[in-house]
Amino acid sequence: MKKVRVRFAPSPTGALHIGGVRTALYNYLFAKKHGGDMLLRIEDTDSTRFVPGAEDYIVEALQWLGIEVDEGIGGGGSCEPYRQSERKEIYRKYVDQLLEAGLAYYAFDTAEDLNRKRAESPNFQYDAQSRMSMTNSLTLSPEETQTRIREGQQYVVRIKIEPNEEIVVNDLIRGAVAIHASVLDDKVLYKSSDGLPTYHLANVVDDYLMRISHVIRGEEWLPSAPLHVLLYRYLGWEKEMPAFAHLPLLLKPDGNGKLSKRDGDRLGFPVFPLAWKDPKTGEKSSGYREAGYFPEAVVNFLALLGWNPGTEQEIFSMQELIDAFSLDRVSKSGAKFDYEKGKWFNHKHLMMKSDDEIADLFQHILVEKDIVEDSERLKRIVALTKERVNFVNELWGQSHFFFETPETYDAKAVQKRWKENSPQQMTELMQLLEGMEDFSAAHTENLVMQWIASQGYAIGAVMNAFRLAVVGESKGPHMFDIIEIIGKEETLSRLQRAIDFLSEEED
Ligand code: GLU
Repeated sequence: MKKVRVRFAPSPTGALHIGGVRTALYNYLFAKKHGGDMLLRIEDTDSTRFVPGAEDYIVEALQWLGIEVDEGIGGGGSCEPYRQSERKEIYRKYVDQLLEAGLAYYAFDTAEDLNRKRAESPNFQYDAQSRMSMTNSLTLSPEETQTRIREGQQYVVRIKIEPNEEIVVNDLIRGAVAIHASVLDDKVLYKSSDGLPTYHLANVVDDYLMRISHVIRGEEWLPSAPLHVLLYRYLGWEKEMPAFAHLPLLLKPDGNGKLSKRDGDRLGFPVFPLAWKDPKTGEKSSGYREAGYFPEAVVNFLALLGWNPGTEQEIFSMQELIDAFSLDRVSKSGAKFDYEKGKWFNHKHLMMKSDDEIADLFQHILVEKDIVEDSERLKRIVALTKERVNFVNELWGQSHFFFETPETYDAKAVQKRWKENSPQQMTELMQLLEGMEDFSAAHTENLVMQWIASQGYAIGAVMNAFRLAVVGESKGPHMFDIIEIIGKEETLSRLQRAIDFLSEEED
């Protein structure tokens, strides 16, 4: 087998959609699995759709996700340049080759001509049927054609498709996909106006010159594949043709149609890896990174949207994905985008991280709140609360009471949990705790439980009031762990404060 070389070839038309990220990921996994190379090529021949900043965005997104590029933009390599707008001269040669072989032709029809044709017949297609009634080098004499070109008239070069054959795309995911040539139109390959090829020609020429072995891309490109197959043949590169693999669509969460940016806005989840501000409209979109996702969770989540390992395993590191990945386990049908599952993946990856690492991340949030916390203590707080969150930025909501005394008490909890005898019980509890030298959770728990039993109190009633006093509401980890961390003095002062505050309210 020839060396595996795959490419991710986005057009810089805006932020990279999460579906594009998945395409990049599958290319990467496939390349690494087979000891091959992954290239990053920028397909920017359509200047009308170019968006400044989009290329940097793509590079940054791949970096954040740990999708490393071996060659191309940001990596260099033997096929430079990797930006198609810088490869103008390279393509012209192949345009001429096709023209000389009679496999392509010049067309001079203006936009108005074409619009008129389309208005006349809505199904108008520039093809074998219609081309002889248009203005092109097949209908004009060679002299007339040359004169028009010499005089600087704008033209395009179109591929000449013969309508009497079945074109077969052998797709590694979909099998043999046959399309009749008569449904294809004579696509534009080159425009004299900017001297640039269109997507189709540039894409095929570069895949050939860059020795791409496998074209792995989204399903939306499947309709272009027959034309690409034809171009390989027309250019005499049939033997070098890469294998194709068209990935299933990412579907809306309810499975009805393609996932779009609007679904994200509507349902409140990001559809982009990083936050993005559209330079033209100023419109802002949220990103997975800014929402607090770990890149490895996003990778894990996306890997399973359209591929499955054939086992029950759901949690994967990048290396495990590389080892397990194969194109034959990519599904043909679209994959529903289940955002809740995405959160679950983040939770799982969070739980796999050390308390040290999470504490470091949490520390940044605390610094913003002007809270200085001892790192050993912070690690213990993280260990007690991480089970309850999906994201590091949710830790504060689950642990604020470790850092600050509650100022208010949840009204519902007070009504339910602060009973008439609670002030009395809490006063007794204070006396008990005050006498304890050893304030470790195990020790306080032991003595408090003994006291509750000896008094014949209800454990639930005492512990609920205790929690309300210390935390301010009915939540949080094990009470004795909490008081061990906040310490005796703070525990007593919180109990006293609750007794004063909540008893006053009752009067
Ligand atoms: N430039 C195309 C895109 O934006 C690439 C399609 C392909 O991979 O061939 O996705």
